[in-house]
Amino acid sequence: MPAVGQITVGGALAIDGHGAALPAKGELPETGQAFGSLSNMILSLDAVVWDSSSISYQVKTYDRTMPETKALLTHLGRTFITSVTLQVAANQNLRCQSFTNVAASTLFASPSTAGSQSFASYLANTGRVEAILFPFTQYPWLKVWSVCPNMPLLSRHTTAPYNYVFPDIIPHSVAVLVNKIISGNPEAALELGPTEYAVTVAGLAAFLASDLWGAAKNTQLYIKASTLRLAEGGGVVLCQRSDVQRAVSKFAAKYNSLVASYQANGQYPMNGPTEIRATGLDSGSTVLVSGAEPPCLFALTERSDQPTWDTALWLNMLTIPGTPGSYNFYTDMAAWARSNYASYAGVRVEWSKGWAYTSTGPWTDTNAMTVTLPNDFTIGRTSTDDFAWALATYDTLDPHRIFLNPLLDLLAP
Ligand SMILES: Cc1cc2nc3c(=O)[nH]c(=O)nc-3n(C[C@H](O)[C@H](O)[C@H](O)COP(=O)(O)OP(=O)(O)OC[C@H]3O[C@@H](n4cnc5c(N)ncnc54)[C@H](O)[C@@H]3O)c2cc1C
Repeated sequence: MPAVGQITVGGALAIDGHGAALPAKGELPETGQAFGSLSNMILSLDAVVWDSSSISYQVKTYDRTMPETKALLTHLGRTFITSVTLQVAANQNLRCQSFTNVAASTLFASPSTAGSQSFASYLANTGRVEAILFPFTQYPWLKVWSVCPNMPLLSRHTTAPYNYVFPDIIPHSVAVLVNKIISGNPEAALELGPTEYAVTVAGLAAFLASDLWGAAKNTQLYIKASTLRLAEGGGVVLCQRSDVQRAVSKFAAKYNSLVASYQANGQYPMNGPTEIRATGLDSGSTVLVSGAEPPCLFALTERSDQPTWDTALWLNMLTIPGTPGSYNFYTDMAAWARSNYASYAGVRVEWSKGWAYTSTGPWTDTNAMTVTLPNDFTIGRTSTDDFAWALATYDTLDPHRIFLNPLLDLLAP
């Protein structure tokens, strides 16, 4: 379940819609419940494809037993979907607790010093965690969801989504600082982060929103399109669940040291928060159709050569679009991630965010787009479900290549 509402089902499925979801320690999934992507919940879909007998494009239904379907589950807009049937589990009630007093150094501690307030520990206890750390602050906005059939004594019952008004209506104090940054004063980031943190703490208190309980969607959907428009870079790290703390602690340490080194050169490329979530991977076995295969081109697709990898960390770094130095910052972080995680984890891109950065912007690294990223969907796959197979399938279903755009021309030639 993406955190954002007001998007279309087609848009969420096209790019790899996900939320923050793993089973807590000992939690058994409900029938129909899975902990990966929205795309893997599709039972069947209708797509507009070429029909050679009528020499025209027609709507055709694909179910999870058909081999082409796995290319259509996440497709980046290389096809057109008109309808989907989704598998769902019975609704659950969730408690969502917000904490703003757990230090980042505690949450993202290295595994050797990590304790009961570490990211991995919250993940073990509840399975559903999101940390948002505003720039130049020490205490993240930590959200922890737990399955609670009955309302806990201290919670507030919520009957509707979007319970955090403060991210969706930009307060004057934040607007002033954003305006300063946009007008050429990037060092205002030093004030922006602490201001956003203060607004969050005050907002949670004012709206009695730090301990909510209710139907899952009412606690999981919390961002509207009216939120501050920020650029996002980052990616997905696939690893064993036992390596989660190691991976997040390395990420946090590298991010902080890179911010400090840019700052030493008078640059403030990152003025938005970092966001960290975790999900499971996509497996055909969670689909209620025998023989179902997971989406081909999705960050969460399992790698057959790494059967112990069962967790994905979604690491996002946000900033005001066009902030000086941000393209180089994203480029540096991406290069670091590839080498740092190589020995025990794998890196993939999150399609709906910025990727393939160079100093001129996102989606400009031709080598990444034509070699590295295709390779990410080729390692540990076979010739009937890898990147090349997916592209060939799109070309069969759309031989006149009408569902294209300049980005796909490069990525999916
Ligand atoms: C504030 C904010 C928060 C977000 N939070 C999350 C999150 O928590 N989790 C997450 O996964 N994502 C998140 N996103 C990303 C969001 O899910 C994607 O940007 C999504 O694609 C937006 O859907 P849309 O309906 O606006 O699609 P559009 O932006 O209109 O389209 C996106 C892509 O989908 C294709 N597409 C749309 N409909 C169809 C269709 N019917 N058939 C074929 N292709 C189609 C389009 O061609 C395009 O390539 C967030 C985005 C924002 C702005």
